[in-house]
Formats: sequence, C-alpha cells, structure tokens
Amino acid sequence: MKTTTKISLPRLKLGEFEINWLPGGVFDLDGGCMFGVVPRALWAKKFPADPEGFISLTNTPILVRTPDALLVIDTGLGNKLSEKQKKIFRVTQGWRVEEGLGMLGLSRHDIDHVILTHCDFDHAGGVVMYGEKGMPSLTFPNAVHHVQRTEWDDVLQPNRRSACSYWNENLDLLKSSDRLNLVDESLEPVAGIALQRTGGHTMGHQVVWLKSGEEIAVHPGDLLPNHAYFNPLWVTPYDNFPLESVAVKEKLIPEGIDQNAWFLMYHDPTMAACRFDREGNVVERV
Ligand SMILES: [Zn+2]
Repeated sequence: MKTTTKISLPRLKLGEFEINWLPGGVFDLDGGCMFGVVPRALWAKKFPADPEGFISLTNTPILVRTPDALLVIDTGLGNKLSEKQKKIFRVTQGWRVEEGLGMLGLSRHDIDHVILTHCDFDHAGGVVMYGEKGMPSLTFPNAVHHVQRTEWDDVLQPNRRSACSYWNENLDLLKSSDRLNLVDESLEPVAGIALQRTGGHTMGHQVVWLKSGEEIAVHPGDLLPNHAYFNPLWVTPYDNFPLESVAVKEKLIPEGIDQNAWFLMYHDPTMAACRFDREGNVVERV
C-alpha cells in the first residue's frame, strides 16, 4: 500500500464556494466490470487501462466550504478494509481523509453535513472509521448525514444485489445515531446546495447541485463516475436500474451543459471536475 504518496487536493472555486477533493482511497477494477456492454475498443479510447484491462479509480470525498457550512459529499473507502479485502479490491492507495482535512486546517469534527449520493461501500466506507484503539465511531460525529429515504429503506431491507454493497460496518452506527436525516426526493440542507433523488444506480441514488452566484456545479454520483460516461447509454453494470439511469442521464447532462455547470467526478483519476460541450468533449478541467 502506497500510504506515503504525496497528497494532492484538487481545488475549484465556485462563486463563494470552495471545493476540494479529499484522498479517500484508490482501487483498480476490471474495466469490463465498469463499462459492461460497451466494447473495450470503445471505452479504452476514453479511459486508460493497463495491459490486463484494469482501470484505476479514485474515491474522492468532496469537501464543500460555503459561507454557511462545511459539507462532505461521499466518504471514500474508509480505514476498515482488511488486508484480504484490500487485495481483492486491488486497493493501491489508502484512505487519508483526516490528513487531507488537516492540510486545509480542518478536522473531521468541523464538518456540519455529510451527503451520501448512495450507500455502496465505496461511497459510505468512510462514514464509520476505526480510531486509534481500533474502535469504530462516526468519522464526522457532528455532521448531519443526508440519505434518501428510499435508499435507506433499501439498506434496511436490501435485495440480493444491493446486499452485496451495503455493508453493515459502514452503516450500523448511523442507524443507531441521531445524525441521520432521511430525505424525501429533494432538499436544500444549506443555501446553494440542493439534493435530488435520481435512482438508477441504486434505489435512492441522489445527485447534488451546487450554486453560488452565477456558478453552478453538479455532483452526479455514480451516474457519471468519471468523464468517460458522458453518453447516457454508458451506465455501469453495477446500476440496479439501468434504464432509469439512462433516462435520468438524458435529462441531467444537457441540463448541466445548458447552465455551463462543472461536473464533479468521484471516481476519475484523470480529472477532478470538467465542463463538457454538447458533443461530450471535455472543454475545461480541474
Ligand atoms: Zn462508486
């Protein structure tokens, strides 16, 4: 594990908001598992693969500082993976969110809101962390955690597929805490930050719109995990409701482009955020 890798914290200024990407761990996945029915000859042109066809994916919690609050969108892989799990998931860089926050002069106790786009282990892994004595606790103990009610229903009674990626060790402490806020479709927890349920990837998957002054960004969660997924038909095979994903992307992407929005990326090692033109070319990036 390359825990000594120098941390870089990509940054974007959005009106009065300050956005930073935090080091939530990197893993390698079989590109076929990520791109599904899209032939490798097509996806490999847009996204780099190693000779075996594996692709590297970041898991980057996104810190948003608004004049009113500190928010984190998704939480990375966390520090609870066993050595065996790290091998299975080919984790090449560990979770260093506390360190990243420290570099910005912040601590995990300062965070007011955590937004989970959904509860899969690669997004909710950092909700609970092991402290120095190996005891689990909420990573952001003072934050309200916003999850769609439909997502939470699925966590409590998962289907055969979702049960594989909702891990009790990531969510049990949240269940028994008073730090959970269930969202019914949409919510603006902080001025300029709007949650919108989309479904598609999971039952209660949500995206986040950020608006400050004239500047707009959207965190599309795993509907657009990296820039290669611009085509609405390119959905991950992990999507539980792929037709829903296609329909949502057909609306969401043009809506973003119309507003000259930044698309914030969670799983993209090649860019933290980008702007697209209508043909899907990346015209600006961070
Ligand atoms: Zn993901």
